[in-house]
Amino acid sequence: MSVLAVRSLSKAFGGVRAVNDVSFELGRGEFLAMIGPNGAGKSTCFNIINGQLAPDAGEVLFEGKNIVRLTPREIWRLGVGRTFQIAATFHSMTVVENVQMALMSHNREIYRFWRPAAARHRERALALLAQVGMREVADRPSRALAYGDVKRLELAIALANEPRLLLMDEPTAGMGAYERYALIELVKRLVVERGISVLFTEHSMDVVFAFADRIIVLARGRLIADGDPQAIRDHPQVKEVYFGTGKAISPGAVP
Ligand code: ADP
Ligand code: MG
Repeated sequence: MSVLAVRSLSKAFGGVRAVNDVSFELGRGEFLAMIGPNGAGKSTCFNIINGQLAPDAGEVLFEGKNIVRLTPREIWRLGVGRTFQIAATFHSMTVVENVQMALMSHNREIYRFWRPAAARHRERALALLAQVGMREVADRPSRALAYGDVKRLELAIALANEPRLLLMDEPTAGMGAYERYALIELVKRLVVERGISVLFTEHSMDVVFAFADRIIVLARGRLIADGDPQAIRDHPQVKEVYFGTGKAISPGAVP
């Protein structure tokens, strides 16, 4: 059974068919990229899957269960994580306290018993921080972090919830080429270790072709291609969408 199955999903905003009869599946442990030009409907798809938007038609099955009518929180509780949407960290806390909070939340412990000095889950939080390369900044205030470090903290927070599916809409927005590559490489390493399935969008084709197991392509709300990186690179309709000609997508230089 696939982890995620999207079936005939549609959503219009006024006259704009943002998502138009889109269907795809995501297997256990798969690292699936969704690409497409701006306005193709990628974020609308993500927001339907994570429960922020209701579709006009279609189904979203997570591990076989239709989650279309559930709230974002219910979907998150089922094991669908997301990262990097907004600054999801608490600036008044230290880095490790942010991860401790996520572990408390995952264990359904109650926030009001939180004390900044609490030792709860500190060891597990430190272990997660070590995995994202942030052990040495654990006791710094999170507001003092550099942008790339905030992203890695958000990843640690997402992993604290032990998701089985991770949704990442433009996780590397605002990052330079090297940082993008490094963040996605880190994500991939950590999710492969845990068997987590990932659906992500990313503008850098270098990053997409370097890391995705499979790629789906949206254009004007429609899914126009679904295949492995080689098949997508050679796909006539995809080349047309990206270049308006028969030119190939170049994997380019990887930093
Ligand atoms: P992408 O993430 O691929 O850039 P989006 O899903 O954000 O694309 O947008 C798809 C289309 O839907 C675009 O034409 C966009 O303008 C439109 N759209 C997205 N969200 C809204 C909204 N809340 N209200 C009206 N139109 C929207
Ligand atoms: Mg978008």
